[in-house]
Amino acid sequence: MTEALKPCPFCGGEPFSFEDYGHSTAWEVGCSNSQCRVEPHVWEKTKDEAIASWNTRADLVDPAAIREAALREAADELYRWGDIYGDNAARSVLALIQVSASQNDKKEG
Ligand SMILES: [Zn+2]
Repeated sequence: MTEALKPCPFCGGEPFSFEDYGHSTAWEVGCSNSQCRVEPHVWEKTKDEAIASWNTRADLVDPAAIREAALREAADELYRWGDIYGDNAARSVLALIQVSASQNDKKEG
């Protein structure tokens, strides 16, 4: 039985799947959102395997954890380039992380 495709674990975009004759493995599933920053793809021998592979990875990813990781990365960048951008922006990002984390705590508690 063919499973339904889950949305992109990184951006929530619609996935695509098609038989890809350009690769030694035949089926590709990926994110169709042209604005997706990750653009994940999987390739497997059969359509069912490709869908299972895509959906399994989606299960492992917590959207809240991805948002927090993205914010931390942004804060790191701002600290690294603080001489140019100033560290007010870094403080703003850290404040966002704290708000996001406290909202997650409320949901889990
Ligand atoms: Zn995506």
